[in-house]
Order: sequence, then structure tokens, then C-alpha cells
Amino acid sequence: MNFYSLNNPEHRVGFKEAVIRGIAPDKGLYFPERITPLPTAFFDEIESLSYQEIAFTAIQQFVEEDLPAEKLREILDQMLDFNFPLVELEENIAALELFHGPTMAFKDVGARFMAHCLGHFFEGGKEEVTVLVATSGDTGGAVANGFLGVHGVQVVLLYPSGKVSDIQEKQLTTLGQNITALEVRGTFDDCQTMVKTAFLDQDILEKRKLTSANSINVARWLPQLFYFLFAFKQAKTKGREIVFSVPSGNFGNICAGIVAQKLGMPVSHFIAATNSNDVVPRFMQTGKYSPKISVATISNAMDVGDPSNFIRIQNLYKNDFTLLSRYFSSYSFSDVETKSAMKKVYDTSGYVADPHGAVGYLGLTTYQQQHPGSYGIFLETAHPVKFLPVVEETLGIVPEIPIQIQKVMGKEKKSIPISTYEDLKSLLIKN
Ligand SMILES: *Cc1c(COP(=O)(O)O)cnc(C)c1O
Repeated sequence: MNFYSLNNPEHRVGFKEAVIRGIAPDKGLYFPERITPLPTAFFDEIESLSYQEIAFTAIQQFVEEDLPAEKLREILDQMLDFNFPLVELEENIAALELFHGPTMAFKDVGARFMAHCLGHFFEGGKEEVTVLVATSGDTGGAVANGFLGVHGVQVVLLYPSGKVSDIQEKQLTTLGQNITALEVRGTFDDCQTMVKTAFLDQDILEKRKLTSANSINVARWLPQLFYFLFAFKQAKTKGREIVFSVPSGNFGNICAGIVAQKLGMPVSHFIAATNSNDVVPRFMQTGKYSPKISVATISNAMDVGDPSNFIRIQNLYKNDFTLLSRYFSSYSFSDVETKSAMKKVYDTSGYVADPHGAVGYLGLTTYQQQHPGSYGIFLETAHPVKFLPVVEETLGIVPEIPIQIQKVMGKEKKSIPISTYEDLKSLLIKN
């Protein structure tokens, strides 16, 4: 299967090339040439299939030229070693918990898959690749963890000093080996600017092959479609039409869900729930796409002012606004609404939602008011302890710290402080 650039359908590369490049030379996102629906028998018998079997069947068509079946099975076995439970909160509402992985955020699956792919592509060779990532929190932790010890890959993470949570900082800075954490005196935007500059800097590119690990990369984006199939496996017996509500920032996760729909999974509607960064909800109301500078919220992994994957979503619905509106809605919620949803969920069902999950819950209940009768699944994308201060303050409880987090909290932080782009450049050229 080839992937083409959304800026130029003539530019086509295989899966391996798309993963190594991340983005096409014309800055277009890579998009699969075809999405061939799976046989209906697959969906008929999905309850009897393991997570690994489901994942294998779903992703094989996209990767088969560059990942032989045996290698793909091996990767999926190693990567899907935790659970994705669907927890029913009300008669027609369930949370799909995606936070049982090593860093307790849903990005673990995509990061692990991408790490295994790069590890395979560079295995045994002399060449090395450097994954350069700016992170405001969860991405860095998942990437660092996924790539730890992967041969042929160096990871360099940039994070803004003092602006990530204690837990997140520990997840970024305590791993060692092939992971280097750079603590930037500045904001997340400064980190991101430095990374973008490095990708265009010939002096660096002569020394290193650079790639990124955000959801633009097809190896991080596509495996997220597994979640929706895993949810379907668990919810199918309800015998009702299924709708998904996905807390969205760069819209990679929900976009992968739409790929699952294209593969033939019965789902009647997708709801993209956002915080006050409402570019997409506005687009759905006005038909006009106007990116904005992001504003800070309590669901900070979704503070995105120009979601990179929305163009892929439009493409999946043939760039047809009427078709898009039939299957896709988007709503925005303030921090005040998010906190009161956290309280409501806790009071009615005893469930502790993190701020991102709470935004997903709000999207779902808003949609269901007009469309009762559906079985609604919202994605719970991070464990509540990752947003401890908000959870404690809003619910008045102290959640138990899970073992993954306890382990990392006791380790020693190792980071290299940097202030300017020149600092980054000399580090990348030197090592
Ligand atoms: C990244 C992230 C999101 C947003 O996912 P997108 O694919 O960027 O829309 C939501 N919740 C959490 C906890 C995240 O880390």
C-alpha cells in the first residue's frame, strides 16, 4: 500500500518511507491510497477474537509490504500487553479506558507501534535515526517509554522547564539509555519552534537523520483505530447503534476511529469533544476553518489551535460537508463545565474521570439529548492521577497512585538545561 501527500496525490511512498519521513517534502500529511473494508464475518465474530488478532486484521493492509506478517504479529504481541476495558457508567453510557499502558495515557499504543516499526527498519544497519519531539506532557512520556532501548533510534525530547506536572517530568527524565531530555528555559511554543527549525537546518541534517513522533506520523496515527474495534468487541452485544465521543486536540485519535468505520465497523456517529479551543466546533457551525492561537485549559493535552489531523477527517468524508455532518459533530466545553461534569459523573456513578474524559462525557451527553436510544462510548484518554491537582480540588478526594507512577516518582531526574536554539544545535551536531 502506498501513502500519498494530501498536498499532492502524485507524491506516493510506501509505509516505511512515510514513517521515516513523518511528513511529505511538500509538508502534506500522508494518507493511505485505499481503505479496503474488512469482511463482514470479521465484525460478526469479533467477540471471539483476541486484541492481537483484531489489530492484525485491521492494520495489515496498510503495512504488509514493509512488515512481514510474522513481524507484525510479534510487534502486536509485545505492544498490546495491557487491557482496554469498557466501563459502563449508565445504562447507555460507557467509558473506554485507554490509560492502562506504561505511561497511563492513550498515546502509549501509537508510540509503541511507531517505535517497533523504526526499530525494525533500522535493525542491524549502521544508520541511526533521531526522533526529535517537543512535548507539553503526555506525548513525550509515551514516546520516551515506547522507544526506550530500541536499537538504531535516539530520542531527544524538549520540554518547557517548570511547565509540565511532576509526574510528567519524571516520566520524561528518568529513563536514560537512548532517551535524552532537554529542559528548555521557555514555553512549549519555544520548544516546538526549536524542533521545527532543527528539521530545516542543513548542518544538523548532514549529521543526523531526523524524524518526528507526533500523530502526523502514520505509524502513530493508524494503530489508534484498534481502540474503536476493541470497544466494539465489548459493546456489540448491547445490540444498539453505537456512537463514540472522543476528547480531541490534534484530532488524530478520532480520525483513526473514522478509519475503523471505513473498514466496515458499524458506528452511527462520531462526536469530537473539545475544550475552549474550538476551531472544529466552529467549523461545523459555520463551514469556515479559522485556526487560532491555543488557550490554556485544565484538559491541556487538547490545547491545540490548528488541529493537524482535521484535514485527514475531511478527506475520509470526501471533503463533502454534508456527508461529514451526517457522521460527525463537534462541541466545545469550558473548564467550568468540565469540572461540573467531573463532579456529576462522580456523584452519580462513583467514577473518577480525568478532565479529558469529562470533556468526552459532555460531548456524548450533549449529542444524546438530541439522539436518545444510542449506546454512547466516550474515550477516557488519561488516568486521573496524571491531573491530580484538578481531580483533588474538584472531587475532594485523593486518588490512589498506580504502581507505574509510583515506580517513576522514586527515580532521579536527569535533564540537560538549554536556553537557545544554538544550544540545541550544538548538542545535535556534537553527539
Ligand atoms: C493527546 C491527548 C488527547 C488528544 O488526542 P488527539 O489525537 O490529539 O485528538 C486527549 N487526551 C489526552 C490525555 C491526550 O494525551
